[in-house]
Amino acid sequence: MADLQRVGPRVQERLARLGIHSVQDLLFHLPVRYQDRTRVVPLAELQVGTEVQVEGEVREAQVSQGRRRSLKVWLRDRSRQPLIGGDQGAAPEVLLRFFHFSSQQLATLRPGVRLRCYGEVRQGPNGLELVHPEYRQEVEASAGCAAGERSGVSPRLTPVYPSTAGLQQSTWRGLTDQALDYLERLAPAEYLPAAVIDGLHLPDLCSALVYLHRPPLEVSLADLTERRHPAFRRLAFEELVAHQVSLRRLRLTHARLRAPALDQHGVFAQRLRETLPFVLTPDQEQAAAEIAADLARPLPMQRLLQGDVGSGKTVVAALAALQAIESGRQAALMAPTELLSEQHWRGLTNWLKPLGVAPAWLTGRHKGRERSGILAAIAAGRAPLVVGTHALIQEEVRFADLGLAIIDEQHRFGVHQRLRLREKGATGGGVPHQLIMTATPIPRSLAMTLYADLDLSVIAKPPPGRTPIVTVAVPDERRAVVIDRVHDACAAGRQAYWVCTLIEESEDLQAQAAEATARQLGEALPGVRVGLVHGRLRAPERESVMTAFAAGTLDLLVATTVIEVGVDVPNASLMIIENPERLGLSQLHQLRGRVGRGAVESHCVLLYRAPLSAQARDRLALIRSTLDGFRIAEEDLRMRGAGEVLGTRQTGALAFRVADPVRDQSLIPAAQRAADLILTSHPELVDPLIQRWLGQRDALGVV
Ligand code: ADP
Ligand code: MG
Repeated sequence: MADLQRVGPRVQERLARLGIHSVQDLLFHLPVRYQDRTRVVPLAELQVGTEVQVEGEVREAQVSQGRRRSLKVWLRDRSRQPLIGGDQGAAPEVLLRFFHFSSQQLATLRPGVRLRCYGEVRQGPNGLELVHPEYRQEVEASAGCAAGERSGVSPRLTPVYPSTAGLQQSTWRGLTDQALDYLERLAPAEYLPAAVIDGLHLPDLCSALVYLHRPPLEVSLADLTERRHPAFRRLAFEELVAHQVSLRRLRLTHARLRAPALDQHGVFAQRLRETLPFVLTPDQEQAAAEIAADLARPLPMQRLLQGDVGSGKTVVAALAALQAIESGRQAALMAPTELLSEQHWRGLTNWLKPLGVAPAWLTGRHKGRERSGILAAIAAGRAPLVVGTHALIQEEVRFADLGLAIIDEQHRFGVHQRLRLREKGATGGGVPHQLIMTATPIPRSLAMTLYADLDLSVIAKPPPGRTPIVTVAVPDERRAVVIDRVHDACAAGRQAYWVCTLIEESEDLQAQAAEATARQLGEALPGVRVGLVHGRLRAPERESVMTAFAAGTLDLLVATTVIEVGVDVPNASLMIIENPERLGLSQLHQLRGRVGRGAVESHCVLLYRAPLSAQARDRLALIRSTLDGFRIAEEDLRMRGAGEVLGTRQTGALAFRVADPVRDQSLIPAAQRAADLILTSHPELVDPLIQRWLGQRDALGVV
């Protein structure tokens, strides 16, 4: 790395922040997009919203002192020839606008100076503008030569690299130029066996890399930008193979571990079924049976239980816990928030008390003597089932004999946290079984890619007898009517949620918006007890508001999207979601799942701001037309891609660099076959392949 020119310690450190430590890493650091600097666009042909390269002469430059001080530079060219005898209209112009500028810039940008600029065309108040364009002064101004015919344009598309503070695009281009020189002398090894790559009609590794770093002129910009070009697919394929290899190896490693065989099963389960106020659905039965069979074996179960919000995963988890307890071991259930853990603890206590099983509860709230009492019970094995939050994975928590670790809402946990819970059971040389639950249902084929280290159980259908939630979309102008509805619901003794959304904005702005809304609603609804939760509140405050709402001492809960995770307040039957057009479909669906849990018909009002884009209208229409979480997730994945839908924590672990398991779905079967072949016939390729694509992340697995 240090061999490269212009790579001093500072640049090296910045590259390291992006995980780039070698020339090979640099080669695999691909552009996020490309700019077309292959031609100069005449000013008469500019279109709003496009990125263009333009050239012209400064007519005037002026510092304006408006609301914000700015430097305005008018650039003109001769792209519109005056018609003979016709309109002698002014030469076309574009305004270059700079909000930050130096005195040196002021001095150079004088009338008569010729500039070459690159930027995005925007509609300004008095015509087209380029805000903060890149520019450089053209030295030899050859008047008479029409724009577009000038020399000096780039012969190929210009790559734009994902970057970090302090690294300019020009630096990236310099670095990758050098890396590509290296490539000619010392090509990166081809790790995919010919048997795998033949028949896919994809370019070889080197050509793909050269192509993507320095695409030739004739390529379609759209193909490249959307990453559908064969050169991208070649790399995406290799990356998918690397992920599969890594997950399968993890799975194989895991298969060599031992776990206690939890083979005493049936007595507790039977008694629980007798006391439950409902019968299990066929999907729940099947999931329970799959889990029971796994637990009875002396190999650690690694199973993901997928089911939409409200599909009834908890009772399946309870059956699993009972099997551990009946077999003389302990079980633990970890939930992402204190409130959720409390809900689980209360619910499980109700279910299991008749069986003589009393669950313990451990969170950050438990302090002092109470806490040491709980810890002692866990360590002595007197607590057969422990429900809790992250507090469960703290150092001091020692289980006597943990046989099963259950994790609820896994996307809220990091990989490390999951592994730490597992380590809590490693006393006798074995590991506990693991059951991981998620409410973001994704199609089976995709789940098998993303979670190739796990087995999968699915609750596809919710329990029968629910009154479906009625979802309507209402424009913001009719807010007053919606507020009346909230009033009516609360007057009738029911409760409501009002969700404020502001995405892409800061947590602070979200909190402010929610505070303002809570104030307004409080004024508009005298007599209604309004509570407020948002991410800026400290956890204890947030929990106490949520608890008050759950207890019915608050009627209306104004919240940001923090309430998304599985809170269960059956008396809440109305939810208003502001600006639903800004949220992903899956997130909307999860939010909506907070209502529809009791006997009365529930309503969800999507209070949108008109006008909606065509796409937003389609999305809201889909949400209104179906309550099927799988369908919604599938559509969401198609529209936004896996990274967005499955959340940052998870993608932190899976973070594909080139591939997108949704967009590149068609490559997955071949990638799976390739991974098998490599593991069985080319084990020497496993490490280099994983190193190239996953670096240090391999050991963590995905979930
Ligand atoms: P989730 O999958 O979102 O965690 P829960 O386990 O919280 O869902 O279940 C949601 C609600 O449905 C709970 O009140 C639970 O008691 C109830 N429930 C679970 N299974 C059934 C069933 N088979 N029939 C009726 N109600 C059920
Ligand atoms: Mg749940």
